[in-house]
Amino acid sequence: MRFHVRRLRPACLALAVLALSGLAADVQAAWYQREAAIMGTRVAVELWCEDPALAERAMQAVMDEMRRTDELMSHYKPQSQLSVVNAHAAERPVEVDPTIIEVVARALEFSRLSGGAFDITYASVGYLYDYRAHQKPSDAQIELALAGVDYRRVQLDRAARTIRFTAPGVRIDLGGIAKGYAVDRSIETLRKLGIRHAMVNAGGDTRLLGDRRGAPWIVGVRDPRNDGALVTRLPLVDEAVSTSGDYERYFEADGERYHHILVPGTGKSAREVRSVTILGPDATTTDGLSTSVFVLGVRRGLELVERLPGIEAVIVDAEGRIHHSAGLTTPR
Ligand code: ADP
Ligand code: MG
Repeated sequence: MRFHVRRLRPACLALAVLALSGLAADVQAAWYQREAAIMGTRVAVELWCEDPALAERAMQAVMDEMRRTDELMSHYKPQSQLSVVNAHAAERPVEVDPTIIEVVARALEFSRLSGGAFDITYASVGYLYDYRAHQKPSDAQIELALAGVDYRRVQLDRAARTIRFTAPGVRIDLGGIAKGYAVDRSIETLRKLGIRHAMVNAGGDTRLLGDRRGAPWIVGVRDPRNDGALVTRLPLVDEAVSTSGDYERYFEADGERYHHILVPGTGKSAREVRSVTILGPDATTTDGLSTSVFVLGVRRGLELVERLPGIEAVIVDAEGRIHHSAGLTTPR
């Protein structure tokens, strides 16, 4: 199956082809690609550039941006600013880099928008799971930790650039939104360097700058139960796309799949769907919404998506059925 975004008009594509045919005489113009393992995932950049030195600088700038986000926001790194916030913000306001203020502010917006389905304080219980070691907390441990889960306990002071928790036992984790944010910063950097055609990807989060020179970019949505197979291909121009899946980090025990997206109210893995793919204008938005809609499930998730202009969704439910928002069509 192949979905099309309604607003991608064939006429626009034809115009793009005409405009680009004038560039045929470039000497060293080429596609450049780079990959690295950062933020616990695979990061990739692909861009079109007329100048090999500029291409090199641009790809390096993307990797630097990803590493910087990781240094600041990783909860695996005890020296990261995020770890310092978690250690001290219940005692006193903790001053942080403006990018953390921005990411947390966006995260709190998604919490309000999703009625608390997206909640960075899920970490107050989330840290009790270790997916690699196949460890999960007992119901009693979950019950105790749930007291720390509530995004309203995170207070931002934008002027002072501080974060404070209004109760003990609160922890935050930015895993549901930081990769999208890093992708957006990378695209902004590329744009400033004069790049006009690029793809930046960090795990499940992708943003496309321009088209693929006369054709749309094609982004595949993988089948959540069959690695290598796709449920659909999305032809996209100037768009962001994020997928949240229950196959990224999980283990199985007593016939259940314990995976990394938790329902903040219960401290247990969200079970209504297998994967959610969100299309939208920027990757911070699509990343935050893919996690939100995953927790909300098909009905409430699609309700949220239809309320938001410029946002589309493809959802694979717990039985493997595919659902999509009204703005996506299958071509006749
Ligand atoms: P990934 O690309 O890492 O699979 P997702 O966008 O699917 O990321 O988000 C999953 C991550 O979001 C988890 O690893 C965790 O860090 C974080 N997370 C899990 N549950 C929630 C939640 N209810 N609200 C906000 N963040 C969450
Ligand atoms: Mg996400």
